[in-house]
Amino acid sequence: MMLKRILFIKKFNINLKDFCLLFVIFFLLQTSNLISQEITANVLVSNKNKTISENIKISGVEAKNDSIFFLLNEILTINYVKFNNKNIKFYIDTTQNEENQKIYYLISEKPIKLSDTLSFNINGKFINFNDSIKNNFETNGNIVSDYGIFRANCSAAWHPLIIKNHNITDVYTKKYNYNLSIKSDKDCYIQIADKKPVKQQTTINNYTGKIMLLIGKYKWNKIDNNIFINIDKNKQTEIQQYTSNIKNYYDSLMGIPINNNFVFIRLKTHDINNWAFFNYPQIVYIDNQRNKWKDDMGLISHEIAHYYFGNIYIPKSNLHWFYSESFTEYLSFKYQIHSKQMQTLKKKYHTLKLVKLFNLFYIYKVNGYSIEFINLKYVNDKYKLTEVQVYNFSPFQLLGIEHEIGEEKMVKFIKTVFSNISNDKDGYITMLKSLKQVGVDEKTIHKIEKKYFFKLKLRKYKFVKKYF
Ligand SMILES: [Zn+2]
Repeated sequence: MMLKRILFIKKFNINLKDFCLLFVIFFLLQTSNLISQEITANVLVSNKNKTISENIKISGVEAKNDSIFFLLNEILTINYVKFNNKNIKFYIDTTQNEENQKIYYLISEKPIKLSDTLSFNINGKFINFNDSIKNNFETNGNIVSDYGIFRANCSAAWHPLIIKNHNITDVYTKKYNYNLSIKSDKDCYIQIADKKPVKQQTTINNYTGKIMLLIGKYKWNKIDNNIFINIDKNKQTEIQQYTSNIKNYYDSLMGIPINNNFVFIRLKTHDINNWAFFNYPQIVYIDNQRNKWKDDMGLISHEIAHYYFGNIYIPKSNLHWFYSESFTEYLSFKYQIHSKQMQTLKKKYHTLKLVKLFNLFYIYKVNGYSIEFINLKYVNDKYKLTEVQVYNFSPFQLLGIEHEIGEEKMVKFIKTVFSNISNDKDGYITMLKSLKQVGVDEKTIHKIEKKYFFKLKLRKYKFVKKYF
């Protein structure tokens, strides 16, 4: 028995890396009409000295009580904060923690009005990863340089992200209005949003969205409004074709057209567990030697599906990662089935089988990953959802729901459930309620729960094989 376990673990170690595609996303701009915060920034980045310094002004912040919170990347140090040109005290909140970011609060004697200005003077030193200093833990929540290309993602909090009502999730879905002036070393290109890169110095005015700074030496090309950075010519044509087919399919299925174009960026790094992340409109591929672009279709169809989940539909729920990542991956599955290119879907189906087998032997953790099937009914905290659950099990559960109720009702269900989960603490119950709302009868709802949500029953997913 023991020997068997060891053999299984060994086999799994090899397979897990291939089967568990981890697509990391960061939340996109929200399309609501909320008054956006105005961010005016002067940023100086030296790739040579590995330093960043920022002068940032933020207005459009409203705080009725006298303290406000903000997130800032941990590599950055605040020299001072001013409230309408007067120094104001700020503190690090040691009771809360966010990955790669610190939470600060500042205390103002007066309430903060929309017209008031908060000014920040900030600097920091970043790491330049390369073959001798390896970036083994890639995250879009970092400000780093990898092989000479610096990047600072909005979600990495390269500028202060003001938290309202103590709700950190809101920070990542918020849109900002930017006026930026960026400077860098002589030989560097600067890419801001979907604009053409400029050498050494660039400005952007009145840009609403999210901004990832990209600074360094790289190849740049534009085809039909899609931008390709550090991607070779043949691959560009391929991605261009995928993108247009995927957009067309999603348009007709979801009834909501994707009018936007994308920036495809290839970043070289060492971490073997990450594949891609999306910081609208940038889709970033992690080139870690292992990916070798072999799952392009699954990867692009996943990231483009985030146009809906995380952008049009905001996953405000205790089942946050289910509503953002599992729905996104479900849509990617749909495209793969439609286009009859099911490489990723097939791999994940095999993972499902493998995990079931492991669970039969009471093995719930492999290589540090939790592979235990989770009943969503009992998840009260978004961090309880594991990556394997979110990317490998739950997209199949959603295929299962569709299998029972049909595609038309499924699309209605998606629209309904996302309009119901606003700040939801009981995302599972809301899912059941939403099914009822679109006309699924009690008996079918109970059947769905029993077949797909209470336990991992492989035989219930036999219908998936028919697609192969
Ligand atoms: Zn994703």
